[in-house]
Amino acid sequence: MLGPVLLAAARSDGIRRLVTASPLTRPVVGRFVAGERLPESLAVAARLAGGGLRVTLDHLGENVTGRAEALRGRDACLALAEALAATGLGERAELSVKLSALGRALPGGEDLAAEHALRVAEAAGAAGTALTLDMEDHTATALTLDVHARLRERFPATGVAVQSYLRRTEEDCLALAAAGARVRLVKGAYREPPAVAFQERAAVDRSFVRCLRILMAGPGYPMVATHDPRLIALAGALAARLGRAEDAYEYQMLYGIRPDEQRRLAAAGRRVRVYIPYGTDWYGYFMRRLAERPANLAFFLRSAATR
Ligand code: FAD
Repeated sequence: MLGPVLLAAARSDGIRRLVTASPLTRPVVGRFVAGERLPESLAVAARLAGGGLRVTLDHLGENVTGRAEALRGRDACLALAEALAATGLGERAELSVKLSALGRALPGGEDLAAEHALRVAEAAGAAGTALTLDMEDHTATALTLDVHARLRERFPATGVAVQSYLRRTEEDCLALAAAGARVRLVKGAYREPPAVAFQERAAVDRSFVRCLRILMAGPGYPMVATHDPRLIALAGALAARLGRAEDAYEYQMLYGIRPDEQRRLAAAGRRVRVYIPYGTDWYGYFMRRLAERPANLAFFLRSAATR
């Protein structure tokens, strides 16, 4: 029951003001967000890369409603690409972005976000790495897939996330399972209506398995983004059964979630990429992490009470 309430709160400006203004929130946010500034996130990336992990950095931002803000979102990604080039990590450190951080929600924003995404993909390519488009709520799915297809014409390594809770995603996976396509499969983090999304966890998991089978059997590069132990094991078993090499797919997990498992898989020779969010606009991201696991909310409230 708590999950939907927290996801609704994630969209409330009033609650956003309350939560972000509280000094009690910061230490808990730090579990999931690498820092507010780029140098802090780069330090985290370097530490994880030193431990054999790959990373994808996300300058946090979403639901941007002004042109200047969209431009700032784009420029933050360009600065990130430039900084990643200097790390020399190549494709071991890539970028993730949400189209709504680049202006999708503005009037005429679809074209603006696509233009900004192209600039970011160019910068990622120049930095020897790639961009992956995060997937947002279902109103953005078609646009995100369309922008991804257009970006791939010039930057084939551009990736995209797809969400197994959406009824359409199995079909999308069939279309996306093309040579070289980098597809990040996730369960989905937004609150979606039954008309477009499975509501039961078991149905979302079953859809994940169907999508995983399609991606693993295809000629693309699946990015299995889950912390779910059963799905992680299944992905490994499927890859082995299909003769997929260890460097022909990867696992992805979020910064701060199951770090022991991230290290365990990497030590066992698997490719593991950690999604590292940073920036000041952490509220929506943070609330989605709370919604996924009520125990996180208890942890948050306990830390607040003891300060
Ligand atoms: P769950 O069944 O939710 O969790 C399995 C287990 O993982 C839990 O039992 C628990 O042990 C652990 N766990 C999961 N979540 C948490 C948490 N918040 N705190 C502590 N432990 C936890 N969603 C999108 O909609 N769009 C995206 O573009 C997107 N990108 C993502 C990128 C990456 C790299 C990852 C890992 C996730 C991304 N997500 C995205 C989020 C995803 O949709 C899920 O909401 C999230 O991963 C939780 O689902 P799960 O697959 O881990 O399974």
